[in-house]
Amino acid sequence: MMDRPSFQEAFGRIQVAHTYREQGGVGIYTLPAFSARPEIDHGFSARIGGVSKPPFTGLNLSFTHDERADVMENYRRFSRGAGFPEDSMVMDSYEHGITVLQVDRKDRGRGYTRESLPACDGLITNDPEVTLITGHADCMAFYFFDPVKKAIGLCHAGWRGALGRIGGNVIAQMRKAYGSDPRDMLCGVGPSICPKCFEVGEDVCEDFEAAFPVCPLRGVNGRGNPTVDLWQVAACQFMEQGVLPEHIFLMGVCTQETMNLYSYRREGRTGGMAAFLRLKME
Ligand SMILES: [Zn+2]
Repeated sequence: MMDRPSFQEAFGRIQVAHTYREQGGVGIYTLPAFSARPEIDHGFSARIGGVSKPPFTGLNLSFTHDERADVMENYRRFSRGAGFPEDSMVMDSYEHGITVLQVDRKDRGRGYTRESLPACDGLITNDPEVTLITGHADCMAFYFFDPVKKAIGLCHAGWRGALGRIGGNVIAQMRKAYGSDPRDMLCGVGPSICPKCFEVGEDVCEDFEAAFPVCPLRGVNGRGNPTVDLWQVAACQFMEQGVLPEHIFLMGVCTQETMNLYSYRREGRTGGMAAFLRLKME
């Protein structure tokens, strides 16, 4: 187990970078280190484009409150703009838990044109005919790529899922299913509520400190209330599994502060974004 100084040293080797592009009328956030890998394609949706009406205005990719037909049209636009086949999508069915399901081509359309998967916040696959999709508002997306075993994972990590170590569980499930070695794996974190904006109650902050004692995750905001650095919590659970800090990449984009993203914390009733990850055909 790491001590706190060695965690801080390791965290210093993590890269924080993102790129943003607009293509086919939609916006896509990416991790440069993942874009550099020709074996995979990934991204995270922005708000521009789309047909949803207020209060969801834009490219809402959450089915929770909006018109289903509008959200499906938004997915069509997103898949075209991002360049993956619409009929390859398999969607999570989130419950803020830590369940991870292994999926393949037989699951294509689940949660979209077919019945939802059983409750799960994480998906893994080694099937290049599948595009993994997870939904997000202020919650983190974790991206996983094992270039040796050619396997991927994607999950939705709200604060409860992050506290429960869903990221660690995705890595554990990839080890079990595909024989992945964490030292080979690349891990990424998408846009989410940032360390300075994520204000919590003292009890929640203490729960995180108890669960991640080496991780300097506590902050304080201008109102004197505690904040939690979920990006450090993410990195900590990847490193606990043996992922190298130089293989961890954060986009460093805050949903609450970025008007081109939906934020539950900023707006209340609103829409959501989607993360996608797929293996490219050989
Ligand atoms: Zn922020």
